[in-house]
Amino acid sequence: MPATEMPARSGWLQWPFFDEQHRAFAEHVHAFASRMGESDNAADWAPALGSAGLLRACVPKAYGGTAARLDVRSLCIARELLANSHALADFAFAMQGLGAGPVTLFGTPEQQQRYLPAVGRGTAIAAFALSEEAAGSDVAAIEMRAQPEGDEYVLSGEKMWISNAGLAAFYVVFARTADTGAKGLSAFIVDADTSGFEVTRRIDTISPHPLGALKFNACRIPAGNRIGAEGEGFKIAMATLDVFRSTVGAAANGFAARAMDAAVKHVTARRLFGQRLADMQLTQAKIASMATGLDASRLLVYRAAYAKDAGAARVTREAAMAKWHATETASKIADDAVQLFGGQGVVRGNVAERAYRDIRALRIYEGASEIQQIVIARSILEAQ
Ligand SMILES: Cc1cc2nc3c(=O)[nH]c(=O)nc-3n(C[C@H](O)[C@H](O)[C@H](O)COP(=O)(O)OP(=O)(O)OC[C@H]3O[C@@H](n4cnc5c(N)ncnc54)[C@H](O)[C@@H]3O)c2cc1C
Repeated sequence: MPATEMPARSGWLQWPFFDEQHRAFAEHVHAFASRMGESDNAADWAPALGSAGLLRACVPKAYGGTAARLDVRSLCIARELLANSHALADFAFAMQGLGAGPVTLFGTPEQQQRYLPAVGRGTAIAAFALSEEAAGSDVAAIEMRAQPEGDEYVLSGEKMWISNAGLAAFYVVFARTADTGAKGLSAFIVDADTSGFEVTRRIDTISPHPLGALKFNACRIPAGNRIGAEGEGFKIAMATLDVFRSTVGAAANGFAARAMDAAVKHVTARRLFGQRLADMQLTQAKIASMATGLDASRLLVYRAAYAKDAGAARVTREAAMAKWHATETASKIADDAVQLFGGQGVVRGNVAERAYRDIRALRIYEGASEIQQIVIARSILEAQ
């Protein structure tokens, strides 16, 4: 396939959610994805994406970005097309946006000037450090503390499940400045070379993903590294996730499309009982269910992204629906694809096998499926 030809079934890019700039951006991402390698070394991806200019979608125009403010549809397009080719390319792209997200959305001009241009070039890797061992879904249970001392804060505590641990140049860290639950959290930028900061553990996962645990041993940081006011940490985290949650659904769609395309090719080539596997109606039922599920996911993802780009202050329910539906559906699509491949489907390296593993963590991070269900239900019940 020539590098510029879009993948099969990319008709969704003609949907009215997008304009010509989105379609041109999709061509750009696809051209990159067509020539990119297969590196399982996560550190390779941010510089490669930066050199290709793709990370310009992760920062505002004033700091080297493409659009005046983050364009969620572009973030979703990039994630879908990168995930369609390599999970780590998608991961590296997503983390530049998410890790720097609090700085982009709430940082001072000085903070933005210091961090965002390098994020957009891929020369500084970003990380978002919210979760702790006892505070994953339950963010308000965060124990890590930030104690003000003169014109500094002293940060003490631990973080768990942090993407880009050990690779990042800086971490946006959420820590407690008051004992008032979610209202007592504040956000800070911690440079990786801060004295007392260490990566204590690397965590090996079901598919390649640089993940680890962090420890802050009385780390002193300037008070100017606080993002927003004291007590605004929870609001900053949730507003950032409001932008990026639908993009997780987009990545899931990319994995699902990869598994489905491979399965469709397989069933048209595979012959058994004197006919093609594709000619059997139970196979066709799976194909119909995959295609319909994937389109429904894309509609939900781009509805949320479009609404955010159109200026909605929050798209909490729409983004929760998009993430929940797309990640759960993608898991089912990958599982069906494995099934259609038969024995080959569980052989390590098979496209469906890889997608089956790649998709799994997306149902857990940035709010597990159960949390999305609670968010959706509450938004409906509270409106009664
Ligand atoms: C690959 C990966 C990357 C990650 N990257 C980051 C990162 O960069 N930064 C960061 O801060 N965090 C990150 N995380 C952490 C992630 O956000 C948490 O794992 C997630 O929020 C779940 O928290 P937990 O693991 O503590 O599980 P728990 O909160 O203990 O949840 C366990 C299970 O209980 C369910 N559950 C929770 N509450 C309810 C309820 N009320 N009713 C019913 N069921 C419920 C959950 O849905 C889940 O299925 C990452 C995680 C993974 C797996």
